[in-house]
Amino acid sequence: MKPTVYQEKSFRENVNLVFDIAAATLEIEDGLAYVLKGAYNVYQVRFPVKIDGKVESFIGWRADHSEHKLPTKGGIRYSPQVTQDEVEALAALMSYKCALVNVPFGGGKGGLVIDPKKYNDDDMERITRRFAFELIKKDYINPATSVPAPDMGTGPREMAWIADTYMQHRSEDINGLGCVTGKPVSLGGIPGRTEATGRGVVYGIREFFRHAEDKKEACLEGTLEGKTVIIQGLGNVGYHTAKILEAEDGAKIIGVIEHDGALMDHNGLSVEAVNTYNKEHGGLKGYPDAQYFENGNSVLEEECDLLIPAAMEGVIHMENASRIKAKLIAEAANGPVTFGADAILRQKGVVMIPDIYLNAGGVIVSYFEWIKNLSHIRFGRLTRRHQVNQNDLLLQAIESGGHKIPTELAKKICLGPNELDLVRSALDDTMREAFQQIRERYWSHDKIDSYRIASMAIGIEKIALSYQDRGVYP
Ligand code: NAD
Repeated sequence: MKPTVYQEKSFRENVNLVFDIAAATLEIEDGLAYVLKGAYNVYQVRFPVKIDGKVESFIGWRADHSEHKLPTKGGIRYSPQVTQDEVEALAALMSYKCALVNVPFGGGKGGLVIDPKKYNDDDMERITRRFAFELIKKDYINPATSVPAPDMGTGPREMAWIADTYMQHRSEDINGLGCVTGKPVSLGGIPGRTEATGRGVVYGIREFFRHAEDKKEACLEGTLEGKTVIIQGLGNVGYHTAKILEAEDGAKIIGVIEHDGALMDHNGLSVEAVNTYNKEHGGLKGYPDAQYFENGNSVLEEECDLLIPAAMEGVIHMENASRIKAKLIAEAANGPVTFGADAILRQKGVVMIPDIYLNAGGVIVSYFEWIKNLSHIRFGRLTRRHQVNQNDLLLQAIESGGHKIPTELAKKICLGPNELDLVRSALDDTMREAFQQIRERYWSHDKIDSYRIASMAIGIEKIALSYQDRGVYP
C-alpha cells in the first residue's frame, strides 16, 4: 500500500478553511455563510494579439467575490502561474480585507497568464489594452462596478494604459478616471499610492509594536530599532516595506530573497543598493557586498526577529514551517502561509500578522484615489490655505499673551497639509484602528486563537451585517 501523503490544499481551499473556522465563531446562518464564501461571478477571457507578426493567444480572468458593496475592488496580476483558483482566492481575500479596514468596496481580482519579462514595452501595451478592452466590454472594468489596481507584475504604467483604454471607449463617462486606481499622479493618481501597500505594512507592524502584551507573545520587546528583518520579494510591496523599515524605523534588513536566490549580511544590507543591483542585473546573483544563496528559499529559515514574505502565496508550507526561526511573520504578500503551515507555526509560538489586515494599505489608498477621481478635485485644495491662516491666527493669539513659540515649531504648526501628508496620516489612522479591533477580538474571544481568525471573523461579520441590513436575508 502506498503511504498517505498529505496534499497541501489549493489557495482557494486554504482561504475557505480559514473562513470556516472564523465563521464558526460568529452567529451567521449557514445559507448566508455559503454566499459569503463562494465567488459571485467569474469571467474568463481568451484573446489574440499579434506579436512579431505571429498570433499569440492569452487567457485571463476577472472574479467578483462579493457585491455587497460596489464597485468590487482588486488588483490585476500578470504572472505565468495565474489560475482561476488563484484569482478567486485573491478576490475572496479582497472582500474580507475591505470589510475589515472599513473600505466600502466588494472584493474582486483579475489575472492574466503572461510572463511580462518576455515582452517589450510596445507588446505589453498592446496586450494590456486588449485585455482591458475585453473586460470593459462586459463592465468588468467600470468606475461604478469593478475597479482594478496593480498587483504582482503590474504597476502605474499598466493602470495608465487601462484608464486610457476605458476613456477611449467610454468618453461620455465623466467619472472615467475612477475606472482603475494606482495610476500615475499625472493621470488622476494620488501621491503615496505606489508606496501605499509597503507603508501600510510598516504602519501595521508599528501598531503591533505599541502593544506590550502582543509583543510578549512573539518574545519581542522594545521598538523596531535594530530588529533583524528578512524579506522575500523586492518588488513594489517588498521594496517599500524594507526601505521604510530601514530608513524610518532603524530596523536591520539582514536578508533579501528574490526569484534567483538570496543575499544575507548580519550587519545589515543597504536596501537601496540591493534594489538598484536587482533592477540593473535582473536578479541578486553577483551582488558584491553580501553572501549569496542560490537556494533563496533556504533563507526563509534563517534566524531573525521579523520575516516578511512579500512576493507570492504558499511560500511557507507544511514542509518548511517547522524550520522557520522568525519570531514574527508579517504577511505582506497575499496567502504566503498555507493553512497547514499556520498550525505548525502557532504550535512553535511564531506570531503571524495576517495578509488580509497587513497588506490592506494598497486598497485603502486606492479608495482615496477613487474618491478623488469622483470628486474631480485633489484633497485639501479647498481647505489648505484656510487652515494655514487659522493656524497663523492661533499662533498670534498665543504669542499675544507673551508666550513666544520657537520659530521652527511655529513654522511646522503653520504648515498646511499637502495631499501626501493627508494620504499617509489617513492610512496610518486606518491601520492603527483596524489592528486595535483585531487584537481586541483576539484577546477577548475564547475560540479565537490567532490574529488571522480574528481578522477573518471581523471581515465576515461586517459583510454579513451589510447583507442583513439591506434586507437580502431578512
Ligand atoms: P511585484 O511584481 O512588484 O513584486 C514581486 C517581487 O517578487 C518581484 O521582485 C519578483 O522578482 C519577486 N519574486 C517572484 N518570484 C519570487 C520567488 N519565487 N522568490 C522570491 N521572490 C520572487 O508584486 P507586488 O505588487 O509587490 O506584490 C507582491 C505580493 O503582495 C503579492 O502577493 C500581491 O498579491 C501582494 N499585494 C500587492 C499589493 C500592491 O499594491 N501591489 C497590494 C496588496 C497585496
